[in-house]
Amino acid sequence: MSILSWIEEQRKLKLLNAPKYKKTDSNTAQGLWTRCDHCGVILYIKHLKENQRVCFGCGFHLQMTSSERIEHLIDTNTWHPINETLSPGDPLEFKDQKAYTERLKEAQERTGLQDGIQTGTGLLDGIPVALGVMDFNFMGGSMGSVVGEKITRLIEYATHQGLPLIIVCASGGARMQEGIFSLMQMAKISAALHVHQNCAKLLYIAVLTSPTTGGVTASFAMLGDLIFAEPKALIGFAGRRVIEQTLQEQLPDDFQTSEYLLHHGLLDLIIPRSFLKQALSETITLYKEAPLKTHGKILYGQRGSLTKVQEERFRRLLSKPNSDAYKTFVKEFESLLNVFNISNIDLTKSTSLEHALELATKKTTQINWLNQNQFKLRSSFNK
Ligand SMILES: [Zn+2]
Repeated sequence: MSILSWIEEQRKLKLLNAPKYKKTDSNTAQGLWTRCDHCGVILYIKHLKENQRVCFGCGFHLQMTSSERIEHLIDTNTWHPINETLSPGDPLEFKDQKAYTERLKEAQERTGLQDGIQTGTGLLDGIPVALGVMDFNFMGGSMGSVVGEKITRLIEYATHQGLPLIIVCASGGARMQEGIFSLMQMAKISAALHVHQNCAKLLYIAVLTSPTTGGVTASFAMLGDLIFAEPKALIGFAGRRVIEQTLQEQLPDDFQTSEYLLHHGLLDLIIPRSFLKQALSETITLYKEAPLKTHGKILYGQRGSLTKVQEERFRRLLSKPNSDAYKTFVKEFESLLNVFNISNIDLTKSTSLEHALELATKKTTQINWLNQNQFKLRSSFNK
């Protein structure tokens, strides 16, 4: 480690250990001033926000909250959040110095979010997009089961609606308080992305901001058709010190910065924050009209058949088993099953109806159900 980088690290440590008045939270701003993490210049928060949290002194990109990011990227009044109320559980009943539930509650109160990501749809320069924005202020943007589930649902929604997908990453990695539950999100998200990108042939752009590390880098951050990053962003998997100790080797000073990664072919573009929206809109427009673009298909088992409104109507219908509409529905469903030559589902049983709802709303078991019945389905097609 050179002397300069040692001084730099000591300075950063000092900043890290500083008391909480430096907090860059927009809603509960406790002070008017903040300090640039890079050059140390004192900045007036109001002006800093107007400048999209880019330092006036050195052009360093400070962390943005997810709401600020959405405001910056999405046209005014066009943002529609998805799964806003999804909130985390505590499957392992994890406890270190504090209980995990306590940490969650504290973070929820501080940020006003249920978990470390906001997902939804909106217009980006008039183009409809599906956007997910991670929030580093919520437990270091760590990816727990809720973050994973929200991203997966966003991807599936984008796939069904044929929307280009943008995910802005800012994360310390998987959330250790949820153990294996957070690790399995990596595989789940990657599988959903596979359908989005390789089956439906839709565009996915990952935007990496500082820091993007750990499990997030190891899954969806690096799976973008195009990977954009902000200047001087910290992007990596394991931390610098861990790698240095493992390899017993000195790493270059700019190791794990976006510039270093671009130079080594891991990124497609480094784009300053002020041009990000324009770059995204131009890329999507270009992609839409690309002459060699091929159109894909969503696999049958993964195609959602109902819209949200239809799903809700369906749920209400099922809550009134004595209505005529309900009886008509059962009849129609029975005849549909007859077409496929499946007779072992007894619709008078409530579990079967729940099953039917699951199939229709594509909640969990559509693929399993198809797998179970595929021999019957095949034989009826072969007739
Ligand atoms: Zn600065």
